Amino acid sequence: MEKNIIITGGSRGIGAATALLAAEQGYNVGITYREQEAAAHAIVTQINQKDGKAVAVQMDVSKEADIVHAFTQFDKQLGRVTALVNNAGTLKQGRVVDTSAAYLEQLFATNVIGSFICAREAIKRMSTARGGQGGGIVNVSSIAARLGSANEYVDYAATKGAIDTFTIGLAKEVIDEGIRVNAVRPGLIHTDIHTSGGEPGRIERLKNSLPMKRGGYPEEVARAILWLLSDDASYSTGVLLDVSGGR
Ligand code: NAP
Repeated sequence: MEKNIIITGGSRGIGAATALLAAEQGYNVGITYREQEAAAHAIVTQINQKDGKAVAVQMDVSKEADIVHAFTQFDKQLGRVTALVNNAGTLKQGRVVDTSAAYLEQLFATNVIGSFICAREAIKRMSTARGGQGGGIVNVSSIAARLGSANEYVDYAATKGAIDTFTIGLAKEVIDEGIRVNAVRPGLIHTDIHTSGGEPGRIERLKNSLPMKRGGYPEEVARAILWLLSDDASYSTGVLLDVSGGR
């Protein structure tokens, strides 16, 4: 069976590392990006130059029409999706007392609703009840869902709490259709998200509070994601796998 993976937010960070490792493992790879077209195309080129197959499609995950369009493009350019990684996500540091409804709507649209709509489009294509061959979904949550992230981003932590519940429920809903649904919960990982969220030195500030006393690397999360998608994890669904240095 052909292995076709779609990774949202594959231009950078955890998504890009997952794309590169997936290609090494024999997947045809579809990545989406929002703004960083050059970075996305660099990942695609890297995969294609090693005789893999990769394509990139622009998509704002907070926009349903963009998601539907992207999945149609992947149908044409890649074939029927067999694995989805709901990875695109965003955060901004701030306290609840300073928040606004407009910001929260955008945050939840990106981090939560986008994952629901991507999963919907994947299930339509994977479900054995709809003529598909089954597949796997991995949601990228965060250890923040368990910690609450007081004084940093309670709102972001709450979006990841929603992703955990989504993972547990959806796993039970679609297992009879040949689809396993799991999540990874990364801790402090070396990517741009800390700088774009408002604190470039965040890992340095917090790393000694972790049992492992270091930040993690995107490749360490990518390996967990691809394990959950693989047949080696054939008896696991609805799992929330912490990749967080022991915290
Ligand atoms: P990153 O380096 O900032 O990359 C974020 C990716 O998401 C980029 O590819 C970006 O696309 C894409 N993206 C952001 N907003 C988007 C939107 N509205 N529509 C479509 N794509 C969008 O972040 P990362 O650290 O790799 O994070 C990946 C996931 O891991 C996120 O869900 C994050 O919450 C989670 N996570 C990260 C950490 C950590 O410490 N790094 C810890 C726990 C969980 P463009 O670059 O093209 O704009």
